[in-house]
Amino acid sequence: MANAHTLAHINTDVIRKYTLRGPRYTSYPTAPEWTESVGPETYARHIAETNRAESPAPLSLYFHLPFCPKRCYYCGCNVIVTPLHEVTGHYVDLLSMEMDLVAPHIHPDRSVIQLHLGGGTPTHLTPPQLQKLFVEASQRFPIAPDAERSIEVDVRITTEEHLHVLREFGFNRISFGVQDFSPQVQESIGRIQTIEQTTNFTSLCRRLGFDSVNIDLVCGLPHQTARSFDNTLTEIIRIGPDRIAFYTYAYLPSKMPYQRRIDPNTLPSSDERFAILRSAIERFTQNGYVYIGLDHFSKENEELTIAQRQGTLQRNFMGFTTRAGTDLYAFGVSSISSLPSLYVQNTKNLKQYEQLLRRQTLPVERGIELTTDDRIRRWVIMELMCNLRVDFARFRQTWNEEFSSYFKEEMPRLDPFAQDGLVEGDLSKEIRVTALGQILVRPIAMTFDTYLTRTRTDTKERPTYSQTL
Ligand code: SF4
Repeated sequence: MANAHTLAHINTDVIRKYTLRGPRYTSYPTAPEWTESVGPETYARHIAETNRAESPAPLSLYFHLPFCPKRCYYCGCNVIVTPLHEVTGHYVDLLSMEMDLVAPHIHPDRSVIQLHLGGGTPTHLTPPQLQKLFVEASQRFPIAPDAERSIEVDVRITTEEHLHVLREFGFNRISFGVQDFSPQVQESIGRIQTIEQTTNFTSLCRRLGFDSVNIDLVCGLPHQTARSFDNTLTEIIRIGPDRIAFYTYAYLPSKMPYQRRIDPNTLPSSDERFAILRSAIERFTQNGYVYIGLDHFSKENEELTIAQRQGTLQRNFMGFTTRAGTDLYAFGVSSISSLPSLYVQNTKNLKQYEQLLRRQTLPVERGIELTTDDRIRRWVIMELMCNLRVDFARFRQTWNEEFSSYFKEEMPRLDPFAQDGLVEGDLSKEIRVTALGQILVRPIAMTFDTYLTRTRTDTKERPTYSQTL
């Protein structure tokens, strides 16, 4: 795992060489490959198939609550801006209708071991609206008493009453954004949140019994420099969250027109972004955190750190997770469900979402059915990104294939990574990602993404990905 010593010797030319545009691999195949030919019928068929599996997997439930009272200029999410709580209340009714369409297909013995609310801002719902959602969910799905329950909140609008409701329903993980404490950066992204607000909110969460607090930071925001970010690092270390997500800002104004409020000339260069990331890795690893890789840090005794050490860490749309092998059922506009051989995404349009539900139709808009090759490549990509190692013997055990023959075309493409110190190990037995490779793991994973090199036969535009660093 990356530490301050190894980072001190990083050659910035190598960083430049591998800073390119590429997927984040929350899924494989990635979303641009999904099509509208996969719809409600395919989803229903796959749900039925999961019940017939020899040992049906436990469930993860995700509720997408897309509302925010105001839009931040840098936002990259599917957000519906509204100040109205009638809108959010009505949406809870729609979620119940969607659950009514999905729940009867799932065998009642399959319990929920993970429940996550994301957004948007889930706590833009009022406390009674959240309460209603939890009651409705637990009436339709058996939620295990020890299920991991997590939520994304916004410190600026979350009240003590919200937190009491969350604790009452067993929520034990809470996550919120800081991004950067610099007043100039906050001003430029239209999101003001003081150090004092954040400190008090974290203390309140701890007092009310949340076991795990996650803070999100963002690298690459306007006016951000390694020097200006140093104060944010000091304050975050003092506040002491259990996990830190440090996302790279995806500036994609062609896809998200409201990002045009950000002047591209104020964005840090890729060298500066690397300097920010390097100082974050140095400061956090010197202060009791482990760099899990990609965009996450967690405390040394935190379960993510332990899972990575044991080679059992997983990644899904909710980020890194220790709950392996679940089927993920997602509810709400634009939400993504993930079954062993299927991804489906709901419509992003609220009106259409409601119309489909009123017609008793699953509101699925597009998706992809995975071939065996997709599943094999997904396995390799997730091993690289989560556990920083692909063990060829384990590959053989899992897939009944020899790694070096299956990937005979890809193997020579690993040589430059080995020469540049991104991967190491005996390449006839394993691929081990080095400390430097952890930072540049997306380009390594891209080696196994067959869609990136495939000649497109469809008429779709080539996807625009964010920078890998
Ligand atoms: S709070 Fe988050 S989801 Fe809402 S607008 Fe701001 S960045 Fe987007």
